[in-house]
Parts: sequence; C-alpha cells; structure tokens
Amino acid sequence: MEQTTMKALVYHEPNNYSLTDVPVPQIIEPTDVIGRVTLAAICSSDIHTVKGEVESTPYPKTIGHECCVEIVEVGSAVKNYKVGDRCVVKPGSHCGECLMCRLGLIAMCENGGVFGSVGKLEGCHAEYIRIPVADMEGQLYLIPEGMTEEDIILLPDMLATAYFGLNNAQLSEGQSVAVIGVGPVGLSACLLAKKMFKARQVIAVDILQYRLDLALKEGIADIIINPATDDVAQKFLEATGGLGVDATIETPGLEETMAMAVAVTRPGGIVSTVAIFADPIIKLPVVEMIVKNHQLKMGIQVCEGVPEMLELIKDGTLNTNFMLTHKAPLNDIMKGYEIFGNRQDGCIKWLITPYER
Ligand SMILES: [Zn+2]
Ligand SMILES: [Zn+2]
Repeated sequence: MEQTTMKALVYHEPNNYSLTDVPVPQIIEPTDVIGRVTLAAICSSDIHTVKGEVESTPYPKTIGHECCVEIVEVGSAVKNYKVGDRCVVKPGSHCGECLMCRLGLIAMCENGGVFGSVGKLEGCHAEYIRIPVADMEGQLYLIPEGMTEEDIILLPDMLATAYFGLNNAQLSEGQSVAVIGVGPVGLSACLLAKKMFKARQVIAVDILQYRLDLALKEGIADIIINPATDDVAQKFLEATGGLGVDATIETPGLEETMAMAVAVTRPGGIVSTVAIFADPIIKLPVVEMIVKNHQLKMGIQVCEGVPEMLELIKDGTLNTNFMLTHKAPLNDIMKGYEIFGNRQDGCIKWLITPYER
C-alpha cells in the first residue's frame, strides 16, 4: 500500500476527539487482514466512549466497531479471504483459545476486544482497519452477490444485539413483547420480534415520538406508548388485559426503564436488558421481581443468530434500510457524532462513507 497515513476519528481523552492523521494499519500477525472501510456506522456506545463513560477504553484510540470492508491485504496464514473480498465485520475480535473464549464469553477474550473500544484494537471510523484472526468463524461474512453494504451493515451489532436480547427472553411464536427504548437496537428488536420470532404483539415504548411513529409505520410495532404523553400503566393494562407482556427488552439501561420493564412484564415472564448501563450501580424493584417469579437476563452479545439473520436479509424477510437515516463521508464525522449523539434531525443511524480527498 502506498498510502502511509490516513484519516481517523481519534479519541484523545474524555470529551476530546477529532478527525486526525494516523498511520495506516499494517499486518502484524500472519492471521491478520487489512480492510479498506467501505461503509461504517456510528453506535451509541461510540458516543459513550468519547465522553469517557466507558472507563476501560484506553486512549488515544481510533473509535468505531460497525463496518463493512474491502480486503486490501491478507496475512500469510489467512486461508479463507483474498484481496478484493467484500465483507461485513464482527464488532470485536476473539482468539477462540483463552479461558473466556472456551466459556463462550468471546466479548471477554483475553487476547481480543471490541474494535475502537475496550482492549487494544483500533476502530473502523477510519480509512483502513486491521482485523486479527480473520479466519475465525463469524469474524467476517462475505457480502453476498447482489447485496449492498447498506443491506448488511446493521447485522453484526444492531441485529445481533437485538437477537441476543430476544433469545435471552426466550420469546416464542405467538407471545407478546414490550421493547422499551426504540433507538436502532430497539427498532431491530421490534423487527426481529415480528419477522423472525413471530411475536403476536409488539409494544414499543420511547419518549421520542419520531422513533415510535417509525416503528408503527414499518409495521414492526402493534402498539406504541410514549411515557412523556401517555399513562404507561393504563396503556399496558388495555393492551395486555392487565396481565402484562410475556417478555420485555430493555435498551436504555436506566433505573426508571428497568423499573418499567418489571412493572409491565407478566408473572413468570422475562426481563431482558441489552444495555451497557452508564451508571454502574442502580436500584431494582427486587421484591416485585421475586413475587412475580421474574427472570432477569443481561450480557454482551456473542454474535449468535447472525448466519440465520443473513439468510433472512437475503430472502427479503428482514430489511433494515428504514433505520439508515443519515449518510456522509468520513470528512463529516464530527457532525455525525454531534447529530447522532444528540438525537437530532430524526437520526436513527449515521453511516460513514470513505474519506473524500
Ligand atoms: Zn455498537
Ligand atoms: Zn480468547
């Protein structure tokens, strides 16, 4: 590669980040590939990171973990990929060999991490990215012929996180589910609940009306509830006959939304949160949970369900394009962090196209 420096969104220290010139990544291990980032997306965890709220993130660091790449260089030991392959990338890397990997907790891999977040890996809000252990199952998915980067970019993080929550909630066909917080992960949960898990009733809850309206318009929520204007308890009473929903997916990671999740879930039901809580310790209504025999599920997604969802994207069952509200080149990424981070302009997802020189 002739180019030696590239543009990257670098997190310098809490609340200090900018588009900066950094060295182009090189192959370090023979199992690495280098990808040219063809499309990336901003995730709410990126916003938390640059604010310094993800304390375990070392800096300086290039941010970003949702991307598609075109492979431009392969390490000598890489067997499954070649230069020119178009792939969507798992948000983190894992070795498959350490104790955490063997326990199935790949997000806690001692040798890996999340791109542009916890661990040593640099992120994808840049022109190029180094991807270790490229041949690891599920690290890269070739973008099928006839499919665009936009069709698939939300698969490994947004859809996989939503799948993790619904799978933890043991949602089965014909059941009812509430999704509290319908940003991109919550909207993905509504989409999967309807189209993949075949829920009978999806109830979307958010204080941002445009998100609720979008869920309704897309036909992925049956009932929408806005706590800013609606009586939540009364609305759930009407919707579920007073029993509550079979399962609730909580996405904001707040004390009040966790309490709401417990309140609206039926006895014997499951409360499943997919949030990374900004506050490390919160109060929970544990007596209510005990009396209602609730289960509480949480954790970090491990990219389960991705091959199945890829098939459903291919056959048109799942379409996430309605969430791709904004798109601009890497040149404008500071504006992207501002607008996406502050939930302005009806932004659901901000996509980043390659830097324009
Ligand atoms: Zn993410
Ligand atoms: Zn590992």
